[in-house]
Amino acid sequence: MVYPPKVRAEIGIIGGSGLYDPGFVRDVQEVKVYTPYGEPSDYIVVGEAGGRRVAFLPRHGRGHRIPPHRINYRANIWALKQLGVKWIIAVSAVGSLREDYKPGDLVVPDQFIDMTKKRDYTFFEGHTVAHVSMADPFCDHLREYLVEAGRRLGYTIHSKGTYICIEGPRFSTRAESWVWKNVFKADIIGMTLVPEVNLACEAQICYATLAMVTDYDVWADRPVTAEEVAKTMRENVEKAKKILYEVIPRLPEEPSREKCSCCESLKTAVL
Ligand SMILES: [Zn+2]
Repeated sequence: MVYPPKVRAEIGIIGGSGLYDPGFVRDVQEVKVYTPYGEPSDYIVVGEAGGRRVAFLPRHGRGHRIPPHRINYRANIWALKQLGVKWIIAVSAVGSLREDYKPGDLVVPDQFIDMTKKRDYTFFEGHTVAHVSMADPFCDHLREYLVEAGRRLGYTIHSKGTYICIEGPRFSTRAESWVWKNVFKADIIGMTLVPEVNLACEAQICYATLAMVTDYDVWADRPVTAEEVAKTMRENVEKAKKILYEVIPRLPEEPSREKCSCCESLKTAVL
């Protein structure tokens, strides 16, 4: 595939742990997009789903090759932008920091706390300086579609939550987990949201996360077997696919200017 890519897509899906193929995209082309930041996590699968042009990118690469701190987030978002994507639905597996966000539940977070340490956070590295607004980091319009679809399907889906993003690849200590839960009051924990979400914002793409709870984080002191986690993850991935299948045909061609602030954020941000 040549740069810039000739194939186009409207809706981007970034698949997290366990989701390496949405399973419903037809007439697929595997597209290699070259970016100024190097290679995206993998080829991007572009095709048709529910009458829409969809681009699917597995965040960790097929076969889960890339750990969270080594993902080339800038290349991933740049590549999707090059394809013409206006919406990104980011699917990710998370741990829960609350009793009532149970393994098997889905969460559509509305806030995040960034505890990552060493990533490339911006496309604006000079001459142009930009400080994008992150007061409301996710696209409310897209979040609405995800929550509604989850409810229609009868899943337990939480319409709000604060996602704390840690550097990884290690998990939290008990002391850290206690702090995230009791001091920071975060609801879910993962390693891949930042800087994906803020780069999408800089690229002016509407972005929302569909988080799948796989387990309680270490605070709960509830040992789980790898087998249990794998089973929950498999079931969650099936739910996420059904939600995507519901949402994709319903999304408007253009994000609503009233319902989302995310795409406007750059207008006030470039200095
Ligand atoms: Zn938006």
